[in-house]
Amino acid sequence: MKTVLKNVTLLREYGFGDQSVCVTVDGHTIESITREMPDTTHAEVVDCKGNLLIPAFYNAHSHAAMTLFRGYGEDLPLQKWLNDRILPAEDRLTYRSAYVASKLAIAEMLRAGIVSFSDMYMFMDATAEAVLETGIKANLARCVVSFDPDIDMTQDYRTREALELAEKYHGAGEGRLKIDLSLHAEYTNVPRCCSYLAELARDRQMRMQIHLSETQKEQADCIRRHGKTPAQFFYDLGVFDVPTTAAHCVWVTDEDVDLLAKCKVFVAHNPVSNLKLGSGVMPLQKLLAKGVTVALGTDGAASNNRLDLFREMQTAAILHKGVQNDPALIAGEEIFRLATRNGALSQGRDDCGEVRVGMRADLLLIDRNSLHNMPCYDEIAMLLYSADSHDVLMTMVDGRILYQNGAYTSIDEERLRFECREVFSHYFD
Ligand SMILES: [Zn+2]
Repeated sequence: MKTVLKNVTLLREYGFGDQSVCVTVDGHTIESITREMPDTTHAEVVDCKGNLLIPAFYNAHSHAAMTLFRGYGEDLPLQKWLNDRILPAEDRLTYRSAYVASKLAIAEMLRAGIVSFSDMYMFMDATAEAVLETGIKANLARCVVSFDPDIDMTQDYRTREALELAEKYHGAGEGRLKIDLSLHAEYTNVPRCCSYLAELARDRQMRMQIHLSETQKEQADCIRRHGKTPAQFFYDLGVFDVPTTAAHCVWVTDEDVDLLAKCKVFVAHNPVSNLKLGSGVMPLQKLLAKGVTVALGTDGAASNNRLDLFREMQTAAILHKGVQNDPALIAGEEIFRLATRNGALSQGRDDCGEVRVGMRADLLLIDRNSLHNMPCYDEIAMLLYSADSHDVLMTMVDGRILYQNGAYTSIDEERLRFECREVFSHYFD
């Protein structure tokens, strides 16, 4: 099935200046970009009316099912928030509640132009089913925690679930679904478990998702416990031997940054979650200067509370200027790349994240005629500083339109509302 997107404006970096072009999508990929109208026999034609076609967004760090806890336990110190509110609430999770909450997260992400998300959590089979049903892409990982230093990893049920998930779902949905491994963090895992999972990931060529140096306390406790930083801890246990995405990296040292660069660790920057939980400000410019591939993430809805990379881009773009007293600190194009191409790379999706022939057709159409986007002298400035997720007119995932002009094509919005009410109203009974 072919789709021809006509009357499209592209970002200048794609080489068509201000000209209106046609983008032809064949199957999953972008087949051609032309000034002339291509043959449209047997093709669906979408008139884009001069609006801006951009690469879609990739959410590099999330916990989709945590939409269940959106707005539950606000304005508390981090440990109190986690121990008194989130952990007891997570004990009540079921397959059904995780499934509905994941579908809610997916609907919110598609509406905001996110075509793929990395996720580490529990009940990941429920999230996997929601991914396959809705047509979005994801890198899912069953999150592993361990506290017994003498743990027999061959008997660990979390690790068994992680491997069963991989066996059942890796590559499903024509490759849209990938299964990674995940260690929750240094402070929630013993060394024996980390080295075991690192070996599994090496043997099975799987990627790894972790939390790293989110808070000052985590950094200090790790040094007290192990005489080294969390980055050094994971490196010594072989975790960075496989492609790893490390979320947060707020408190990393200069030596940690060098280590992350050397091991080609992908870093997921979650500016809104870090600010809301009072964790601090990640040294973005330092990481970029050392050549680390940084992507953007939302983290879970309990600590954000939106799953919206427009908001993360805007926050990242202004936050670092403000704390460094330098409005020219990081170019807008670079921030935009964090949410697009770098996010795709962090998920091992090397053929995604750019509007070029041969790349996967993960595309967003952005309304250039919203009043708050006029006039538009510079598209990147518009995307970073004036546009928001409501300017997304169309979200295309692997060549398939999943959201267009206010409606989903794979999600029954009213049914989802009904399911949410049903699950959320009884959750804390
Ligand atoms: Zn997280």
